[in-house]
Amino acid sequence: MENIRVRFAPSPTGPLHIGGIRTALYNYLFAKKHGGTFILRIEDTDQGRYVPGAEEYIIDSLKWCGLLPHEGPGFGGEYGPYRQSDRKEMYRRFALDLVERGGAYYAFDTPEELEERRKAEAAQGNHNFKYDNAARPSMKNSLSMPPAEVECLLSAGADHVIRLKVPDNEAVVFNDIIRGEVSFQTNELDDKVLLKADGMPTYHLANIVDDHLMKITHVIRGEEWLPSTGHHVLLYRAFGWEKTMPQFAHLPLILRPDGKGKLSKRDGAKFGIPVFPLGWQGSTPEDSFDGFREFGFLPEAVVNFLAFLGWNPGTEQEIFTIEALCEVFSLDKISKGGARFDFDKAKWFNQQYLHATDGATLARLVKPSLVAAGHDADDDYLTAVCNLMKDRLSLLTDFTEQAAYFFGDVKVYDDQNIAKRWTPESRPLFESLATAIENATSFDAAGLEALVKNFMETRNLKPGQVMPILRLALAGTMQGPAVYEMMAVLGRERTGRRLEKAFGYFDGLEAK
Ligand code: GLU
Repeated sequence: MENIRVRFAPSPTGPLHIGGIRTALYNYLFAKKHGGTFILRIEDTDQGRYVPGAEEYIIDSLKWCGLLPHEGPGFGGEYGPYRQSDRKEMYRRFALDLVERGGAYYAFDTPEELEERRKAEAAQGNHNFKYDNAARPSMKNSLSMPPAEVECLLSAGADHVIRLKVPDNEAVVFNDIIRGEVSFQTNELDDKVLLKADGMPTYHLANIVDDHLMKITHVIRGEEWLPSTGHHVLLYRAFGWEKTMPQFAHLPLILRPDGKGKLSKRDGAKFGIPVFPLGWQGSTPEDSFDGFREFGFLPEAVVNFLAFLGWNPGTEQEIFTIEALCEVFSLDKISKGGARFDFDKAKWFNQQYLHATDGATLARLVKPSLVAAGHDADDDYLTAVCNLMKDRLSLLTDFTEQAAYFFGDVKVYDDQNIAKRWTPESRPLFESLATAIENATSFDAAGLEALVKNFMETRNLKPGQVMPILRLALAGTMQGPAVYEMMAVLGRERTGRRLEKAFGYFDGLEAK
């Protein structure tokens, strides 16, 4: 395929849902796969729905995921500006041109008149009034009124919109890459407003004009835009741009974890899951939330997870870096059916990426939350702890809690398990083990393992009689990395102090 140009065209009406990020990702992968261009276009012509900060949020989210556009606001490119509000003068020209060509017309009906007509229709039992080819002759527009009257209204500066003239009784058929042949009957389509009374274009006009001018070859977007595509194809025809009309690919919905309907913004709070890439500070607490980043996800894992929400490579392989995804991605492996959001699967992906992260990198990532929790850690020590803990984490945010005993005294002991295993009579035995450990010639995992094993063998003890006690004494819990490695990381001094303190505590517990 040559000169592939695709765009991600979000409207800055609030934080970007992960469905939006998935759309961006599929566009990015498709462009990269074919050596094409990935464009970011901000569709902000609907001033009423504009939310301050949303554009920055979109860009920050794309950057966090590593989906950098080749062209876009702040990214350069020869087809700019890439923000529709910076292009608004131009759309009027295109709308007027369409009127000239007979593909659109002026409509002078006021909002009150339209409302009245709607009510009158409803009173007749038609609750779904549409400004369409059937209604057109009875409305106030340049197709129903004498030309002189239209001229007069226009020169007097009367408020008007420009509407698409949807042809009568035709089938609009196009081939969707994912869904195959899709068709619409023009009699079911309304005459969409293209240019509003304030001179601003609607989404439909601006979107088609920009896709044309930016030489977009493929429109890859969410399923919710499929119903608009009939109008879009008609617009390409009306402009005479049919030959260069992009190909369409409508992505499947992302479904709620329970599979019941589309995943919405509110489902984040409802299911306790992130549905946005980054956190968002809204004006109220209800409007503020954590994103995948704040939940403790690595962006690489989020990208891998999202890639599989509606697509698969056709093999068993699940772990793909973004570079690997660029190679294997193809639109024909996208499913038609909705993809259920599975949070456990998201965590599984994150776990795989955390395992593969080296200790020093992980140390850098967890340090801020460790410091925020009041711990102080030297980088080498933190790296050693990270190397030990990384296989046990599924979220970065688990680290501070799960590894807390590496950074200060054990705060909580698992009393129940201790009571099951400890007897005051065992104290002298464990005291001598502690002394042997403190005096180990080589205080590394292998040396400690040899030492403890030898200690057990000479006394005819089984690992089950010794190791859980050591673990509980060092970490307070039955969970955690291998005991020898834990001791090696804690170091001779900390280990010694901890064992002594713990045995005292264990005895006290028995006395209770
Ligand atoms: N501005 C639309 C949105 O918010 C773009 C839809 C499209 O890609 O055509 O998703």
